[in-house]
Amino acid sequence: MYNKNSMKAEEFIDHSEILESLAYADENKNNVKVIDDILKKAREMKGLDHREASVLLACDIPEKNEEIYKLAKKIKEDFYGNRIVLFAPLYLSNYCINGCTYCPYHGKNTHIPRVKLTQEQIRDEVIALQDMGHKRLAIEAGEHPKYNPIEYILESIDTIYSIKHKNGAIRRVNVNIAATTVENYKKLHDAAIGTYILFQETYHKESYEALHPTGPKSDYAYHTEAMDRAMAGGIDDVGLGVLFGLDKYRYEFAGLLMHAEHLEAVQGVGPHTISVPRVCPADDIDLNEFTNSIDDDTFAKLVACIRIAVPYTGMIVSTRESQKSRERVLDLGISQISGGSRTSVGGYTKEIRPEDTVQFDVSDTRSLDEVIHWLINLNYIPSFCTACYREGRTGDRFMALCKSKQILNCCHPNALMTLQEYLSDYASPETRAAGEKLIEANIPAVSNEKVRGLLIDHLNHIKAGDGRDFRF
Ligand code: SF4
Ligand code: SF4
Repeated sequence: MYNKNSMKAEEFIDHSEILESLAYADENKNNVKVIDDILKKAREMKGLDHREASVLLACDIPEKNEEIYKLAKKIKEDFYGNRIVLFAPLYLSNYCINGCTYCPYHGKNTHIPRVKLTQEQIRDEVIALQDMGHKRLAIEAGEHPKYNPIEYILESIDTIYSIKHKNGAIRRVNVNIAATTVENYKKLHDAAIGTYILFQETYHKESYEALHPTGPKSDYAYHTEAMDRAMAGGIDDVGLGVLFGLDKYRYEFAGLLMHAEHLEAVQGVGPHTISVPRVCPADDIDLNEFTNSIDDDTFAKLVACIRIAVPYTGMIVSTRESQKSRERVLDLGISQISGGSRTSVGGYTKEIRPEDTVQFDVSDTRSLDEVIHWLINLNYIPSFCTACYREGRTGDRFMALCKSKQILNCCHPNALMTLQEYLSDYASPETRAAGEKLIEANIPAVSNEKVRGLLIDHLNHIKAGDGRDFRF
């Protein structure tokens, strides 16, 4: 029986409720009156529930779809402006005891070398990432009690934060590791992580069990209830995600929104971020086995509908997506992207065969500088901002600022300052010239005179090389 306040996975992600919502969406996908009513509510920018949003996702009236795209763009601009936050994944270890059938790190894959970085190797990887200009990482590791225990993850986080190389620093470490205990989440919280990210992969329980035949991850309820344990452990910011292509996308979409509604209802804080990866090629993975994969048009519609349904959440696309696909969804709601990524263990420093241990093939293989230049040309402000959690703006504090659209007053000047840091320290001459022009053009958008004055002062210090890490 569906109950978003329940702490049981099968009640807050109720299968019948999803099927009924999809049936309702099918009945109303050409009903202009129902769609107009939902769009009217969506224009208030307070979100939609899974049933309403499912109607928009199913809608196949071209003019209404145009309205959906326009609204998604407007919500994105109103909440986050034109900044796009950059991050990079850092793979620590590909040892894993799980049997996920879509991931080359699954325990039975004997084709790939298994690698676990030492603290010294992590240091080298972090220096390479700092020299690219990154300030925000997402660490990734397979689940393995012997090779990747929580102590290893904690030590690695400490190492990452401790490295100060030239003007570089990793200022926020987000963590993407397997579902764990409240006690371990407390330890991650105490290690000052940013967001805890855990992809659900699929909300369809039967499919989930078939896709995860072995290992601790095969327990659907334990995995699905992980975010509640993370929050019980003191982690304020959690990131949801589905691997689109595993099951039917409309089912996943409804499940994802129900998960967000559950977190808001019981924790008072919805997901800090939502990621939208799609199944993609990798070693030992035959894409033909995944018959639910979605095309680019469906992907764009999904992004737009998530943006409308959960206006306050950050939305992430990785380098799984091509430049073309990323360009399209930036406009529809994406607020964070990875750049210059290596998806292998040790990939930032290994010169020879760095792709041997990749988790997935990267589609967007451009360097970080190329990605930055591309964003600037599209009139987005590339941002390396990590201010919020360092200023204590997490959980419900962050949500209140975001929902009232106040966060833009921080995001915009912080984006300009962190971009200037990047331009002064790491950019190619062409990117620097284009970026400084963009910064000049975007200073007047800071309406508060005092903030604008401080911003100009900070920018001058950064350019002169006598100041870094200013933040609002
Ligand atoms: S998805 Fe994660 S848990 Fe599953 S095999 Fe890959 S690394 Fe292991
Ligand atoms: S001010 Fe906060 S929400 Fe805005 S970019 Fe920085 S960390 Fe993110």
